[in-house]
Amino acid sequence: MWKYIKYLNVFVFCKFLKLLGNIMVLLVLGIVGFTWYAVVPGYYGPLMLVGPAGRALGSTLLVLVFSILAIMLTWCYLTAVLIDPGQVPPGWHPFPDDAVAARELELMQYADYYIDRRDPRRPRFCKRCKAWKPERSHHCSVSGHCVLKMDHYCIWVVNCVGLLNYKAFLQFLAYTFVASVMAIACLIKPMLSFFQGTVASGSAVAFIAVVINSAFAVSLAGFLVMHANMLAANCTTIEMYEKERIHPWPYNKGFKRNFEEVFGKSKLRWLLPYYTAEERRQLLDSCLNARLLQSYQSSSNLNTLGGDAV
Ligand SMILES: [Zn+2]
Repeated sequence: MWKYIKYLNVFVFCKFLKLLGNIMVLLVLGIVGFTWYAVVPGYYGPLMLVGPAGRALGSTLLVLVFSILAIMLTWCYLTAVLIDPGQVPPGWHPFPDDAVAARELELMQYADYYIDRRDPRRPRFCKRCKAWKPERSHHCSVSGHCVLKMDHYCIWVVNCVGLLNYKAFLQFLAYTFVASVMAIACLIKPMLSFFQGTVASGSAVAFIAVVINSAFAVSLAGFLVMHANMLAANCTTIEMYEKERIHPWPYNKGFKRNFEEVFGKSKLRWLLPYYTAEERRQLLDSCLNARLLQSYQSSSNLNTLGGDAV
């Protein structure tokens, strides 16, 4: 039995996910391009130039709105793919100084310490990175490092979703859902001509685009509801399991503050996939400061403080 188990190397699976992810980027961009082609040059673009003025104006507005949606979702997608989700800075530790950090690391190996593993604010150490990691961060086996406020590794964005790209990821989901629903609504009429035997120009393309976008809209609706609930509770996908056991959830600051923690306070930037330098600094500070850890230490009757491996 064991001689077979040793061949089940999860890291091979991680490499496979990375390879699959590169194909996914092309697939996503291909679907976006195909759907835009079905809606704009395939059907509504020509209607802008012929027929009654009202229809031409309506088609122009539709083309404009759909093109803006396509640009926004592509921008959000590429941001989620390309930016660093938030690596733990080298040498970071939660202790007052380096000497204490070194001593705690040594104690961790020998001391018979008690650590409340249910508390997400406990001091934590990553065996793979051989480094301390802040609360809410986790080691990502695919990217090979610890990620701040890690949510999950996403093969669609070929990147770990964490502190700095979660906003872009959610915006990508939202824009894609709206664009998918709009594409379905816009292409119903040309698609029906495909079944009525009056094969109009672009009807086969419209049919394929409606099928693909229907699948995306249904799955994205479920995904959006799930992430909206987690955003409202200030909880990541990984933490969903921890949250069930911990009451009250220590990071829940109320819906408004939880929302602003991810999306910022500027209403304009709620729609745009980037942070200002100041917003980025505040986000990193919120993850890297040790205030919660200090409260954990003061509230625990620990004679010896150890760490939680991975
Ligand atoms: Zn790590």
